[in-house]
Amino acid sequence: MNLKSPEHKSGHLVLPGERLGVIEEFIPDSGTYVKDGVIYSKLVGRALMDLLSKRVSVYPLISGATVPKVTSTVVGQVGNAQSDNVLVRIFKIDSKRLSGVFTGILHISDVQERYVKSMNDVCKPGDIIRTKVISDKNQIYHLSTKDKSLGVVYAFCSRCSNLLEPKRNEMLCPKCGNVERRKIALDYGKVDV
Ligand SMILES: [Zn+2]
Repeated sequence: MNLKSPEHKSGHLVLPGERLGVIEEFIPDSGTYVKDGVIYSKLVGRALMDLLSKRVSVYPLISGATVPKVTSTVVGQVGNAQSDNVLVRIFKIDSKRLSGVFTGILHISDVQERYVKSMNDVCKPGDIIRTKVISDKNQIYHLSTKDKSLGVVYAFCSRCSNLLEPKRNEMLCPKCGNVERRKIALDYGKVDV
């Protein structure tokens, strides 16, 4: 039995005319049409609901659209940050750059094996971060950075926006001298994004 709400089909295969949601909830984007306030798919493809932008779109299957899957390594920009989680706007899956944007969530318990006190010591809005998709439960991409290869790849000074440089266990701003903390990937600063 499928207990999932028909309103939340992100990543799912949808057919033309299939109901995706209502305009009170989502902004209709490419591959969709609206009739009487209801958003439908225009084509056969994968439905994408972006939690951050509240947009719903359908990517045609024939274009070989790439969507995040469990175990995918994804790269994105840190958006909204809370003390125990951050939203990540994913723009790259494995090595493929996406035409759309997906949102994932990184919870503090999935940052590393060791205890983390605050997400403030992990990443900050604007940073570029590499994570792994560990679950897509309820159509939400849950991310993890529990590996040396995962974590922030570019971090910016929260005082002056300059690129931070790793120094011992901290991050130093060469411009203003500000010191911050991050959970960085092994190849920090050397990644082509
Ligand atoms: Zn600075």
